[in-house]
Amino acid sequence: MNAVCPQAITRRCFLQKSAKTGLALGLSPLMFDVGQAQAATRRRDDFEPAYLKLHESGELARRADELWALMKSCRLCPRRCGVNRHSGMSGVCQAPGTDLVIASFHPHFGEERPLVGQGGSGTVFFSHCNLRCAFCQNYDIALLGRGDESSVANLARMMRVLQTIGCHNINLVTPTHYSAHILKAIDIAAGQGLRLPIVYNTSGWERIEILELLDGVVDIYLPDFKYWDGDMSAKYSSDAASYPEMTAKAILEMQRQVGVAIPPAGSVSRSSKCSMASSISTCPISSIGIATCRPSILPTRPIILK
Ligand code: SF4
Repeated sequence: MNAVCPQAITRRCFLQKSAKTGLALGLSPLMFDVGQAQAATRRRDDFEPAYLKLHESGELARRADELWALMKSCRLCPRRCGVNRHSGMSGVCQAPGTDLVIASFHPHFGEERPLVGQGGSGTVFFSHCNLRCAFCQNYDIALLGRGDESSVANLARMMRVLQTIGCHNINLVTPTHYSAHILKAIDIAAGQGLRLPIVYNTSGWERIEILELLDGVVDIYLPDFKYWDGDMSAKYSSDAASYPEMTAKAILEMQRQVGVAIPPAGSVSRSSKCSMASSISTCPISSIGIATCRPSILPTRPIILK
């Protein structure tokens, strides 16, 4: 991120500043409302998100139900814990059953530059995480579970608020263990006028079967690629030895769905399958994000490597 944006602030820095600002104003990050946002302007275009058709056909609701059912013996991520989240059990991710926990939602100006634009990336930070890395920059959110319980309807409201205040996308950070809730919320929000592209901001450690259910829902994938070495991923990411193999396959599936992003001129070089692989191989341990997005939105919403 910093390599392509000298003035970029880190996600941790942004969250700390947001929290301080919110406290100074007497606001909770979960308390944004439409009224406060009226001063912001929103650039509208004729972009139509793919999930709209799935919503109208009922397919989005069907897929959400399918994901929801998978939590009965949870297999939403490669851990495949098998715990019954419907009865309140928690797996490795520590998500409390089927309850949804969200740390914050707000316009994010420290994200990858092409996601930010003038209005910011409409970021939702989900609490808990299935990968649980020792070096996590959002440790208190991802590993300690800091956040507030929310309903699916409230998540849909957050999406609409982010659209109303002028954000360019809905950026779902660490979404994997809440994919069922997310699809339900998008289905509700789409019916209420949500038209922003969906960014799936993930560790990359995803099951292909789950990604297939996201096909046509997600407009932009923003996965990390943290390791080429399974011993390292097991050591630093809570025994996730399958990370390199599974994530490589997952990224190819993402690419199959949406293509590869072309960064804007002056940011980073034009990416392709080959340049992606090259970038990864030069940095085998550190976190590298690889953006892919639907070709139809490339002219206005190109993405970059981070
Ligand atoms: S989402 Fe959580 S409970 Fe479900 S398989 Fe993954 S780590 Fe286990």
